[in-house]
Amino acid sequence: MESLKKKKQRAEKIFEILDPLYTTEKTALKYSTPFELLVSTILSAQCTDERVNQVTKVLFKKYKGPEDFVKAPISELEEDIRPTGFFRNKAKSIKACSQALVEKYNGEVPSTMEELIKLPGVGRKTANCVLGAVFDVPGIVVDTHVKRLAKRLGFTDNTDPDKIEKDLEKLLPKDKWRRFSDLLIYHGRAVCKSRKPDHAHCPIFHLCPSKEI
Ligand code: SF4
Repeated sequence: MESLKKKKQRAEKIFEILDPLYTTEKTALKYSTPFELLVSTILSAQCTDERVNQVTKVLFKKYKGPEDFVKAPISELEEDIRPTGFFRNKAKSIKACSQALVEKYNGEVPSTMEELIKLPGVGRKTANCVLGAVFDVPGIVVDTHVKRLAKRLGFTDNTDPDKIEKDLEKLLPKDKWRRFSDLLIYHGRAVCKSRKPDHAHCPIFHLCPSKEI
């Protein structure tokens, strides 16, 4: 079994190779306040960023803040977010989350992991997105790409995102966490795709234990 030291060395090299390759990509979700990012991230489950942005472009004109989501009838909110899929659950989460923000935080989004994950509909992935993008707190976002690449790269045997996050945190210093998870996301979208990973054109081929899959 590969030692943690060797894994760390591999992670550092992978970071160095991928870092200069993905320089123009940004979090594609569009938002202008922490609350909007929170809502967008909830909507982005099982949905593309493009679709979420199309929906929120209209949504955030109608709903200016958590109070508006609290007041809206759930059926109306469901219709407004329907194109993002799983709209019933998402509407419930957004409403409950907005309610909690209004009641406990005066309508503001809190800035710690502990507080964020207590909000309805907010898991560590969403919390990490918000903390990193808005409050600049280091964190590893484990989305579907990070989950897949962490496994393929031999950095985890876990399937639970919270455990994967912990496994990845061990590999690099805190100030590289966010960029590393972003790099895995970009590489997952561009090369190491779910169905057909393009091993032949992969710049980290020599550092990957899964190049035969
Ligand atoms: S070698 Fe293949 S499995 Fe490994 S990271 Fe590259 S594309 Fe993914």
